[in-house]
Amino acid sequence: MSFASLGLIDPLLRNLQDLNYQTPTPVQAKAIPAVLSGKDVMGAAQTGTGKTAGFALPLLQRLTQHGPAVSSNRARVLVLVPTRELAEQVLQSFMAYGKGLDLRFLAAYGGVSINPQMMKLRKGVDVLVATPGRLLDLNRQNAVQFDQVQTLVLDEADRMLDLGFARELDAVFAALPAQRQTLLFSATFTDDIRAIAATILRGPVNISVSPPNATASNIKQWVVPVDKRNKPELFMHLVAENNWEHALVFVKTRNGVDYLASMLDEAGYAVDTIHGDKPQPARLRALERFKTGEVNMLVATDVAARGLDIDDLPLVINVDLPIVAQDYVHRIGRTGRAGASGVAVSLVCADEAPQLAAIEALIRQTLPREEEPGFEAEHRVPQTSATGQIIKKPKKPKKPKAPQAVPGAVQVLNNKPRPQGGENKRKPAAQRAVAAGEGTSPSSGNPFSVRKPRSKPASKPAGGRSKRGP
Ligand code: AMP
Repeated sequence: MSFASLGLIDPLLRNLQDLNYQTPTPVQAKAIPAVLSGKDVMGAAQTGTGKTAGFALPLLQRLTQHGPAVSSNRARVLVLVPTRELAEQVLQSFMAYGKGLDLRFLAAYGGVSINPQMMKLRKGVDVLVATPGRLLDLNRQNAVQFDQVQTLVLDEADRMLDLGFARELDAVFAALPAQRQTLLFSATFTDDIRAIAATILRGPVNISVSPPNATASNIKQWVVPVDKRNKPELFMHLVAENNWEHALVFVKTRNGVDYLASMLDEAGYAVDTIHGDKPQPARLRALERFKTGEVNMLVATDVAARGLDIDDLPLVINVDLPIVAQDYVHRIGRTGRAGASGVAVSLVCADEAPQLAAIEALIRQTLPREEEPGFEAEHRVPQTSATGQIIKKPKKPKKPKAPQAVPGAVQVLNNKPRPQGGENKRKPAAQRAVAAGEGTSPSSGNPFSVRKPRSKPASKPAGGRSKRGP
């Protein structure tokens, strides 16, 4: 199948040729004809399936063929997205696919000054890509009115609900013309999403390109059980051991991001970070540096999880599991795109067992566990069933009471043998740094550490292990 056979016009076909898109992806093959014919669409498609071109190409074509030119402070196509990053990315896609079409585009999102966005809206824009909150701000200030909107797109609708945009979405729906085309894309279909779909879509064409909630099969995924406090050291060990040189790394907290980034930096990796406290221009710059290869490690919190469009990313490392199971699907959606093979490895501690179980239930598979020699978890991560249930560990048999100490016998304390010197035993980085008087090392502020000091990770057995990875 070719893009031409889907009925796309020449200028679009030329742009696709320039971008070296040879054949439509499955979501494009289904969505393009449906959208061209003006129908509503409900698309179960995760990032990486080519869904952006699936709606952008036919909408660009309709913009050139239908309706009057846009008036001032109006938009004809409205694309709602959950994050600033995705807004920028969708905007770039529209601009690339619609090059030379004499259409105006704008991305509007919070966290940056509203004035330039208001200025650009004065002339009206054909495509407005916006986050819900900023869109309503612009509407309240009369910078944009909705009476010319002919198509509404909800991109990553599930994520918008996760981020608490339900009320904003309702307000936007209420303000839009009833006569319009509506396209709803979501990686997952929860009851809430179905309820929204039922109220805003009319006779939609249903498109499902992969089973909802499944992750792409060309991604090798596994879990490394580890104690929480050892995560940074294990992370650095895995990166070095496997020669992982280009990775997107997810961490739960901003402090965790900064901590791992400084460890990578000290180890000589070119690294940048994305988290919620960074101003928007700095986030975009970090993403751009990662895309161009200026930095090869990007450490991020969830803000970056959705919609980052990075081609050929071979590796995603979850140093922490996401709180929301769907975010796992979105995180690893960064890898294994367009048929490439990818790797997604998750460092999981015992505390995260419920999150792991929820993820496995969502993706309907049990992720293989691979302990890393030298980092075996003292706090075991429980096994889970294929349906994501936590399987309770069988109770350990009671230990027999310790014999009374007798003169000349080996002294025992609390039934445990005394630690044996341990001069040549490997200590975690934080302990080594403290022992060496390196109080200023970032390791001393390990945000992963728990109160109880760690005795040791067992020393690594000789022989090592085969290298793995992309
Ligand atoms: P998306 O799922 O829309 O985020 O797209 C994922 C990636 O696939 C983007 O980098 C697109 O540039 C790329 N892409 C989309 N459609 C095609 C296609 N038909 N051929 C090659 N690459 C594509």
